[in-house]
Amino acid sequence: MLDLLIKGGTIIDPVLGRITANIGIKGHTINLVSEQEVEASEVLEASGLIITPGFIDIHMHESEVENNTANLEMLEYMAGMGVTTAVGGNCGLNTCKQDAGAYLDLLEASGIPVNYIGYTGYGYIREQYGHELDRPINHSEFLELAPLIRKNLDQGACGVSLGLEYAPGISTEEMLWLGSLVRDYPGRLISVHYRYDARRSLEALAELIILARETAVPVQVSHIGSCNAFGQMSSALDMFDAAYADGVDVSADVYPYNAFSTMIGSPVFDEGCFEKWNKSYDSLLVAEGKYRGQRCTESIFRELRRQAPETLLVAFVMNDAEVTEAIKHPRIMIASDGFLRSGQGHPRGTGAFPRVLGKYVRDEKQLDLVEAIKKMTLLPAERLGLPDKGRVAQGYDADLVIFNYDTVMDQSGYENPETPPRGIEHVLVGGKAVVKNSNYNGGDNGRVIRFGR
Ligand SMILES: [Zn+2]
Repeated sequence: MLDLLIKGGTIIDPVLGRITANIGIKGHTINLVSEQEVEASEVLEASGLIITPGFIDIHMHESEVENNTANLEMLEYMAGMGVTTAVGGNCGLNTCKQDAGAYLDLLEASGIPVNYIGYTGYGYIREQYGHELDRPINHSEFLELAPLIRKNLDQGACGVSLGLEYAPGISTEEMLWLGSLVRDYPGRLISVHYRYDARRSLEALAELIILARETAVPVQVSHIGSCNAFGQMSSALDMFDAAYADGVDVSADVYPYNAFSTMIGSPVFDEGCFEKWNKSYDSLLVAEGKYRGQRCTESIFRELRRQAPETLLVAFVMNDAEVTEAIKHPRIMIASDGFLRSGQGHPRGTGAFPRVLGKYVRDEKQLDLVEAIKKMTLLPAERLGLPDKGRVAQGYDADLVIFNYDTVMDQSGYENPETPPRGIEHVLVGGKAVVKNSNYNGGDNGRVIRFGR
C-alpha cells in the first residue's frame, strides 16, 4: 500500500509536459504516476491545482550559525516558496561562518525542513589563512590553503564558490589554480559572482568563460541580472550561447528583480559606482538597522559605510527588460540569491519562485509554464548532477510543489521581505508535507546532500 496518493491535479513534468494523473508516494519516492487510483494511507485532493517537481534553488545564502546552533530561517523561507533543495555557500562566502563540511554535519545533526547542498566559499577559506580579499596571493600561498579546500570537498561540498567583486585580489591565474584542483573532483562546480558589473561586465564574463574552457570544470555564473542588466544582457547571452556551442561548460542563474542587495561595506559601493550605474544615492534603500526603510542620502551612505558596513542595502539599479530577457533564455536557471537576517533583507528570499510563476508566466506571458518549471527544477538538477530530482516521474524523489496557478504570486516587498507568497498550497520534501494548506508545517525530512558520496 502507498503512503500518499495525490489525486486529481495537473502535473507539469519538464520532460513530458502537462499530464493529468494521480501520484503515488511510498516513503521518500514517487512510486507511480498513473490514472489508476491506488489505495494509500493518506489522500491529498489536488483538483484544480498544479503539481510540479520541488524547486531547486541553485543560488541562495544560508543563515549564520550562532552558539553552534543551526539557524533554519533561510531554509524555512525556501520551503515557503516551494524550494525543496537549497544550495548555499555562494559568492565566496560561508554566511554560516563555519567550514562547509562542518556546516553540513551541523545541519545533519539538527534536522532540516528542505534538502541542502553547500559550496565551500573560496573567500572564506582565503580569510581563514589571513589573506585579505583585496590582496593577491602567490602559488605557494595557494598551495598552503589547498588542503582546506580539499577537506571541504572531501566532506561533500558541491564545489567552490567565488565572489570576485568582493575579492578583487583573486587573479585569473589564481582562479585557474583553483580550477585545476576542483577538476580532481568530477561533478563538482565552481560558482562565480563575477568581477565587474555594468560597463565592464562582458569583460568579467569573458574571464569566466576562460575559466571553464581552460579547466574543464563546470562554471555557474551567479545572478547575471545584477551583472549584465545595465545594457549588456543581449551581448552576455550571446556569449553564453557561443561558449555553449563550443562545448564550454558554462551556465548562469538569475533572480526576477530589478534591484540587488548586499552589505553597504562591500566594494560594490566603492567610489564611482553611481556614475557606472547612472544612478544616485536615493537608488539605495536601507534594509536593516536604524535607517531601515529609508532611501540613502549622501550622509546616511557615508555614515553606514563607516560605522555599520554589515548593513544590508537594496540597490534599484538594473533594467527590468534585461532581467526579463535573462529569465526567458532557455538555459538560464531561476535562483533566489536570497538572504534575510531576522526577516530583514531582499524580498527575493521569500518570493523569487512564485514571482516568476505569477508575474512573468501568468500575468505577462513572457514564458510558458512548462519552460519556467524546467528552469526551476530539471535544469538545476542536471547542472548539479542530481539524477533523482527535477521530474515528476516514477522512481524520482517525492519532492513536490502543489500550487494554485490563478493565485500564485510573491507577496514580499522591500518593506516586508519576510511575507510568504500566495498560492503555494502544499510543499512535499521526501514525501512529507513541509507546507500544508499554505502554512509552514515545520519538519525535518530534508536531507543534507553530500557530493562524492
Ligand atoms: Zn553574489
